[in-house]
Amino acid sequence: MRTRVTEMLGIEHPIVQGGMQWVGLAGLASAVSNAGGLGIITGLTQPTPEDLIKEIDQCREMTDKPFAVNLTILPTIKPVPYEEYAQAIVDSGIKIVETAGRNPEPFLPLFKEAGIKVIHKCTSIRHSLKAEKIGCDMVSVDGFECAGHPGEDDVTNMILLPLAARRLKIPFLASGGLGDGRGLAAALAMGADGINMGTRFMVTKEAPIHENVKQKMVDASELDTSLIYRSLRNTARVFKNSVAEQVVEIESQDGETRFEDIQPLVQGVKGRELFDSGDLDKGIWSAGMVVGLIDDVPTCDELISRIVREAEEIINERLGSTVSA
Ligand code: NAD
Repeated sequence: MRTRVTEMLGIEHPIVQGGMQWVGLAGLASAVSNAGGLGIITGLTQPTPEDLIKEIDQCREMTDKPFAVNLTILPTIKPVPYEEYAQAIVDSGIKIVETAGRNPEPFLPLFKEAGIKVIHKCTSIRHSLKAEKIGCDMVSVDGFECAGHPGEDDVTNMILLPLAARRLKIPFLASGGLGDGRGLAAALAMGADGINMGTRFMVTKEAPIHENVKQKMVDASELDTSLIYRSLRNTARVFKNSVAEQVVEIESQDGETRFEDIQPLVQGVKGRELFDSGDLDKGIWSAGMVVGLIDDVPTCDELISRIVREAEEIINERLGSTVSA
């Protein structure tokens, strides 16, 4: 498949692995890139900018294909030196960055001067148009189905993608709810130039998380996610475990929820312990509705080849025969 995404990013297949806290390490990113997609290292998973430089170096030893770094700017428990992470990305010679969470405008002069292509993740059309206006090269349009932070508008990709196709000039990825060849074919049909997948890549052999977590997502249905932080206007879609249910319960109580009331339950370090130990009620973890479509744990190479093959079959055969009948 050749699209504006494969051309701009210099990759073989129009499939990008989204930034994921604790999951986007060199091993997964290089596996996705080696399989012909675009792997992404998650910047803030590294405790310091120096560690990020080391992780990027390690990824370069594992692949000679393009890969990117994600920089997410959202509320955090500890302050993050974003400028230092951005500088580490530039100093490492990275040529593609995925930004998310907030308007990336303050970082664009630095990235553009370094010849970096910026993909900004947006959960609305207005933010996508703004990203185009300020000079982002591509957007990742993140529908309400997505894992992590879907924003506060609750618009699904069936509406967002055709709107993005009508209004944007720059290429865009469909993100949220994508996990198979049907999704890729549908995203292309709705005007996207490729797809971004997070949750689906968590359930691969190379994802650095405990087998229990992967198996839980294989067993899950499309009903097994929860929306937390709604009351704080920092909504996140996470796997529906006992901790997520406690957070929702606290938020539904009368009166205003303070972040302090839920912080012990949701802190990122607990999520990391959950991924390492396989104790599924240790904390929370981001997961999208696409868990309902996931029923195996393939390698990244098997997954990407299968998705592309299925999408090509749908386009050439099922859709082709529909119009030629
Ligand atoms: P953390 O331990 O600092 O915080 C845990 C969670 O609480 C995060 O979801 C964070 O957004 C939220 N949070 C923190 N302070 C808050 C406040 N004052 N009000 C409302 N919510 C608050 O975070 P972490 O697990 O180390 O993750 C680091 C960053 O990566 C966070 O900004 C997180 O949101 C982000 N992240 C993004 C995605 C994604 O979908 N792109 C997925 C996972 C994490």
